[in-house]
Amino acid sequence: MKRKDFLKIGGLLVASSFLADCRQTVRKESVAKRGSLRITTTIYELKLRQAWTLSRGTWTTRRNVLVRLEKDGITGYGEAAPIPRYSESAESNEEFIRRALPVLEKDFWEYQDRWQELEALSPGQNAAKAALDMAILDWIGKNLGIPLYRFFGLNPEKTLPTTYSIGIDEAEVMQKTALAAPAFRRLKIKVGVPDDKKHIEAIRAVTDRPLIVDANEGWKDRQQALEMINWLAERGVEFVEQPMPADNLEDHRWLKERVSVPIFADESVHKVKDIPALASAFHGINIKLMKCGGLQEALRMVSVARAHGLKLMIGCMIESSLAISAAATLTPLFDYADLDGNILVTNDPFRGLTLDGDRWKLSEKPGLGVEPVIPEW
Ligand code: MG
Repeated sequence: MKRKDFLKIGGLLVASSFLADCRQTVRKESVAKRGSLRITTTIYELKLRQAWTLSRGTWTTRRNVLVRLEKDGITGYGEAAPIPRYSESAESNEEFIRRALPVLEKDFWEYQDRWQELEALSPGQNAAKAALDMAILDWIGKNLGIPLYRFFGLNPEKTLPTTYSIGIDEAEVMQKTALAAPAFRRLKIKVGVPDDKKHIEAIRAVTDRPLIVDANEGWKDRQQALEMINWLAERGVEFVEQPMPADNLEDHRWLKERVSVPIFADESVHKVKDIPALASAFHGINIKLMKCGGLQEALRMVSVARAHGLKLMIGCMIESSLAISAAATLTPLFDYADLDGNILVTNDPFRGLTLDGDRWKLSEKPGLGVEPVIPEW
């Protein structure tokens, strides 16, 4: 056998085992039909390359819900990455989508009304709302035959580079992870445990790249937060995300007046209505589609946050290329992007979004521009 043929067969074997792996991780598929509308939801288990530890827990897999909205011969795709901290699971997201059927039977072109109706259905379940908003807008882009960045009037040359996230682990493991990601010009380090300083020093010993630090509410009082942030500032940390518990705006306000690098809200900010009250407590905010309920709400948040003089980061959960494409589309409106959820998994069920170094390159195909890897989906 020629080397070329051998490599080709080897490549096919790798591709088929990847496909088999993707099929295996489909846990359940449910279908609802009403007239020309067909809604399919699939619980899909994303497998993490390495255990993912934050200040509040450790995960090796994440169960997301993939949504397919088919209407008039066009398919829109959406993805929900449920957030357990807000009482969401794949099942509760699916249940919300089932209850949304009367909304989804209406005209997708009036998508602003559809979002308000989804929001009025029940509080919470924002990942499910994000999946439906994403699928409706994907459907509209495909109907118009244009990518969503064009629909929103954004320049695809201005998408941002993404940071690469390093979860909490042994110092040596965190160091190795930093070394294994040389293409990323900015690293995001998870902190909020007693060994924080040891972890940062281990990473600093092998790289002088700018760092962003995310405490995920891990520092319990303002003195500890102030001491840690000033220590981090001396080690080239550009800004710190969510130093203390989300509802403690008063201590964040105290902190904002004293820190030498900016602090960003993540857990403290969900929707546009949260922004006016926290503008005096943070220098910037981290907007996530899964927290706010989708692209439409994220766009409203961008306008209101800018009006309050806040810096903007767009972030993600552990998500496939589908939801990351939706977020990457909006990056021209932001200062920083932390959109690496799909890089951290081994069985991404979508393709179409590509990395150019550390910058996301959007597909020129209509809508979100991504297609499922498993052909029968
Ligand atoms: Mg965060």
